[in-house]
Amino acid sequence: MDFSLSHEQQMVVDTVRSFVETEFYPREAEIERTGVVPIELGHEIRRKVIDLGFYAANIPEEFGGGGLDHLTFTLLERELGRGNMGLGVWWGRPSGILCAARADQRERYLLPAVRGEKMDALAMTEPDAGSDVRGMKCTATRSGGDWVLNGTKHFISHADIADFLIVFATTGPGRITAFLVDRGTPGFEIRPGYRSVSHRGYQNCILTFEDCRLPDAQILGEEGQGFALANTWLHATRLTVAALCVGRARRAFDLALGYAAERRQFGQKIGKFQGVSFQLADMVTEIDAADYLTLAAAWRLDQGLPANREISQAKLYASEMLARVADRALQIHGGMGLMEDLPLERIWRDARVERIWDGTSEIQRHIISRELLRPLGA
Ligand SMILES: Cc1cc2nc3c(=O)[nH]c(=O)nc-3n(C[C@H](O)[C@H](O)[C@H](O)COP(=O)(O)OP(=O)(O)OC[C@H]3O[C@@H](n4cnc5c(N)ncnc54)[C@H](O)[C@@H]3O)c2cc1C
Repeated sequence: MDFSLSHEQQMVVDTVRSFVETEFYPREAEIERTGVVPIELGHEIRRKVIDLGFYAANIPEEFGGGGLDHLTFTLLERELGRGNMGLGVWWGRPSGILCAARADQRERYLLPAVRGEKMDALAMTEPDAGSDVRGMKCTATRSGGDWVLNGTKHFISHADIADFLIVFATTGPGRITAFLVDRGTPGFEIRPGYRSVSHRGYQNCILTFEDCRLPDAQILGEEGQGFALANTWLHATRLTVAALCVGRARRAFDLALGYAAERRQFGQKIGKFQGVSFQLADMVTEIDAADYLTLAAAWRLDQGLPANREISQAKLYASEMLARVADRALQIHGGMGLMEDLPLERIWRDARVERIWDGTSEIQRHIISRELLRPLGA
């Protein structure tokens, strides 16, 4: 087993880390304060990422993307996780599900998304259908040869800057279908969502559909096959959450380590107190464990091996690890840890959502235990 990074992988890590440190870090405090990423700044980030040749790195080369394998893309996400997510969204990673687009849809959606001309967002969750997505009430019914969408989606990330949405709706009993819906389609409205404690500058939105008419050409994949599509393409997004958590935990740890080596109390550096140094030991052990779980799950995807359980394990452990590490890093900083002058209180707040979105910790435990028990007939 070889744990070393290839030359290309090391280059990806170094490039993304340096970009995040120089382009994101200096702007984060202001974004935390205002809760907004100015649109011009977003476009500037996007332009720079395109120039670097890293835009749409997750999309296969045949569609003009970077064609990174899962492992290398996971390393990229890990480094992006160090920085503000509102800025990170402009480091475009179009939803992989767009690769299911038919030829005409590729021209209108996939290729412009890969070139950075259009931004996508994905809408599944509804006010009454969160973990239980099969219970969604958003409907698409047949009328005069079109599909007519009615319903509401909420918590939809970065829909405020999306040019089109991938929207899941029921098209019959037990039938879920994915639709491509352009911003500005009559009957479709995007409204600001809730103000979240986590990830300032990364907006969530409420979508409403009132007799929104869509032709057949807007169906992504096949009618009634929305879940099959989601299962094929969306499992990898959970892995990105795990990778982002590892990167963010490393940033918090680096700050805590540096502080413990500098800060003096009772005539010595606080890192000399076992109460502090043992916390550092536990933190780095947990971060490494989450890192290896995450990279191993990515490796399995690249080998074409089943990876459902491993992805859920990585997402579960990394998101819960981040909460513990962020809390300890803040504690090691004492009162300063709580102040907005340092990024720690933000990392601590940001950590909270990771155990909720892309499947809560309870849902990950459900998936892991199901994978264990199913072969035994239980
Ligand atoms: C900031 C933010 C951004 C988001 N972005 C998007 C997005 O872009 N697109 C999108 O479609 N969705 C998005 N989501 C939705 C997210 O995926 C859901 O919040 C998540 O799936 C949980 O759904 P819920 O919030 O409705 O909680 P619920 O499903 O109502 O869960 C409430 C509680 O019950 C528990 N629970 C539920 N079912 C079970 C069970 N079977 N066993 C044990 N416990 C259970 C949960 O774990 C949780 O603790 C976003 C959410 C947030 C907060």
